Amino acid sequence: MRALLVNPKSPYSFWTLDKTIRSLGKKSAVIPLGLATVAALLPKEWELKIVDREYREISDALWGWSDMILLTGMIVHREDMLTVIAEANRRGKCVVVGGSYASLLPDELVEAGVSFVIIGEGESAIPVWLEALSNGASGGIIREAGKPDLTRSPVPRFDLLDLDAYAMAAVQTSRGCPFDCEFCDIATLYGSKQRHKTPDQVMEELIQLYALGWRGPLFFSDDNFIGSKKHARAILEKLIPWMKQHGQPFDFWTQTSVTLGHDLELIDLMTEANFSFVFLRIETPEENVLRQARKAHNLAKPLDEAVRAINANGLSIVGSFIIGLDGEKTGAGDNIRAFVEKTNLPLVMVNALQALPHTLLWERLKQEGRLLPNATSCLLTGSTMNFVPMRPQEEIMEEMLQLSLHLYEPSRYMERAYNFYLTMRPTRRATALREGRKPPREVQSSSDQRRRYPAKDLLLFLSLVWTHGIIAPYRGQFWRQLAGLYRRNPSRLVAYLNSIGIGNNMFHLRSVIQDRVRSGPTGAGTR
Ligand code: SF4
Repeated sequence: MRALLVNPKSPYSFWTLDKTIRSLGKKSAVIPLGLATVAALLPKEWELKIVDREYREISDALWGWSDMILLTGMIVHREDMLTVIAEANRRGKCVVVGGSYASLLPDELVEAGVSFVIIGEGESAIPVWLEALSNGASGGIIREAGKPDLTRSPVPRFDLLDLDAYAMAAVQTSRGCPFDCEFCDIATLYGSKQRHKTPDQVMEELIQLYALGWRGPLFFSDDNFIGSKKHARAILEKLIPWMKQHGQPFDFWTQTSVTLGHDLELIDLMTEANFSFVFLRIETPEENVLRQARKAHNLAKPLDEAVRAINANGLSIVGSFIIGLDGEKTGAGDNIRAFVEKTNLPLVMVNALQALPHTLLWERLKQEGRLLPNATSCLLTGSTMNFVPMRPQEEIMEEMLQLSLHLYEPSRYMERAYNFYLTMRPTRRATALREGRKPPREVQSSSDQRRRYPAKDLLLFLSLVWTHGIIAPYRGQFWRQLAGLYRRNPSRLVAYLNSIGIGNNMFHLRSVIQDRVRSGPTGAGTR
């Protein structure tokens, strides 16, 4: 069997980061970890190829080579997935679709004419599908509701990927989240009892990536890396000595709940293992709204203090906010803006709320008769609110637009980035040098490739200087801040410059959001 595994194209969003990706000489942001995992679950004798439509079309030669197309993705990928399915049908290929889109809306895929829809996680559902295939089945819905034991999950087939094309590698140590925020589909899809790979399994995956030559950014794509702090600590205990022995080859990013800010010891372990970025779902600073959304764990301690603790102790943050939650009043956008400015978060993602199928929110809105008749097809654009909010949608969209325009105004963004890195403690290396201790080996956070091509670093720096220090109207601010950081917290200068580089994407995102919101009541959001 010759199986072509296809990763779909994402619509333009916060995560597109195209300017950063291009400046690094890469083609896409993150490796398609799901497909690499699926590949490891397929029979050894099958011939496999992965094509990632984020940066590459499926050529005629690949179509001709394949007997079967395996496609995976989320609802947000629907449009591109349907395009691939239509083309595969035209060419008479067997099409198999899995992933969260298939699990949440299988009937749409049946209607689109796919051969097999696989519901559930690959580790438990793929063996069932393979058995059906060997019994002569030519199509159907494969439903595997059980949650697989991740300790039996194989090492993903990283070897099938062109790693050089990506800015970031990825591994996953757990699935599920112990919290049940009303709007979130993680518990629906993966359960509220978090399941884990063993620390040895995780190390094996990292060692394979290392052996394949990967160095640099690596995303722990867990839904909540600290869903079990015990598990997170067990991984960090293995990771820290390995990272030190190997000269800090990876620079880790992950997602956690805000409760990370309540545990300084855990933050310390994470930075010792060379974690540099966490994605935090803050949602809103409004207490009553958080409680209504079943997200009271954000309030166990003051939210701003938790965020500041993470910042001060050495982790950069991407803060995620939602506007349009029930219980909000006019001015919710201003409250988010005030919180972001108080905590100096440079990188923030703001989305208008959408109800995802089968979440607690979805079920409640259905009961209340507030889901739009086309609530699932609205999601096709990835941009519109698909239910009747408690205040006018136009007001919500306008607040979201004004918030994005305000926060991503370059001069304001740079001011927050400056204050954020000014208050971050110095790097471990700088601290060790200051205290006369032997510093940890040089961090290779931007990969060996950069060390082999220092000219690339210089070019990146010169491009930043040209954009922000020479032609920008705020160039004076750029130089003042550069000098200020150099004087007051020099070891964070590189992190600050990186955040300015990432900011280039956000400055552009403003016009995308503006176009979407201005295009009408069904056009907003950046998911
Ligand atoms: S903490 Fe995050 S991952 Fe967990 S349920 Fe809430 S939003 Fe989802």
